[in-house]
Amino acid sequence: AKDDPGHPIRRFELAMAEDMEAAARVRQDLRAGIECGDLHLLYQPKVALRSGRLVGMEALVRWDHPRHGRISPDTFIPVAESSGLIIPLGEWVLRECCRQMQVWRAEGLTDLRVSINMSPVQVFSQDVAAMVAAVLVETNLPPEALEVEITEGVFVHDEERARQQFEGLREMGVALSIDDFGTGYSALSYLKRLPVSALKIDQSFVREITTKPENARLCRAIIGVAHDFGLDVVAEGIETAEHLAYLRSEGCDYGQGYHFAKPLEAEAFKALALQQPWL
Ligand code: C2E
Ligand code: CA
Ligand code: CA
Ligand code: CA
Repeated sequence: AKDDPGHPIRRFELAMAEDMEAAARVRQDLRAGIECGDLHLLYQPKVALRSGRLVGMEALVRWDHPRHGRISPDTFIPVAESSGLIIPLGEWVLRECCRQMQVWRAEGLTDLRVSINMSPVQVFSQDVAAMVAAVLVETNLPPEALEVEITEGVFVHDEERARQQFEGLREMGVALSIDDFGTGYSALSYLKRLPVSALKIDQSFVREITTKPENARLCRAIIGVAHDFGLDVVAEGIETAEHLAYLRSEGCDYGQGYHFAKPLEAEAFKALALQQPWL
């Protein structure tokens, strides 16, 4: 009876097989997508909250699948990580945003810094400092124009290895910030041992800042920790004037979010970037 397709165990096995086939297909498609140029980057402005000036942007990857349309990174980054494709994907993201930065710089958009998201898998399976150095040389972008965002999980997993990699980046002049800060259940002690320059407050804390007093307190506490350690603090997911007002009043340095702009195509980013200031 176990071989009967209606039997619960058999049904489960069939579903598993289907899932694995689906995963294999996604992997294959993604490999092809990276090779065929189906990935592209959007850029979300980052604003200095005191002056209202645009200071940079975060590069966010999208996959335009030939049949399924645009796919969100939350869906395919995990597949890229488990399959090793994150290595060529991550390198593509870096090269593409450096190239775009050089175009913008030539057009007069100077003094901006681009942030990229780096997967922990990259940190633990390749020499990221060497990879970044090579791409910066190739694209001729100054290291000061680049920032790497990483989640605090990397320091929990293998702090020593992570530190080696990030010290290499810092020596080059590339900035490092901690993404989704406060969501990783990690001790704060790594902050004094690592070359971190900014903390990013997760959007889940910002979202309910005006309705949940504990979220407002969390944001205030993170801003306090950052400043005590001599770090900048960036809030993401600023969607309303109220979010912005609270974060400004607490001394948050930088912000991103739909209140300013959604992640934009390069053309649209440039048009918006020429409007100053932003507040
Ligand atoms: P993240 O690094 O935390 O990026 C912030 C996410 O919040 C982005 O989603 C962004 O579009 C979205 N967002 C920005 N402002 C607002 C807002 O005001 N409200 C709301 N509700 N959302 C906002 P996205 O682009 O879908 O990226 C999701 C995640 O995928 C990123 O989270 C990052 O972890 C990952 N990711 C994106 N691009 C890359 C990449 O090139 N490499 C790697 N390894 N991961 C990436
Ligand atoms: Ca990020
Ligand atoms: Ca984040
Ligand atoms: Ca996130």
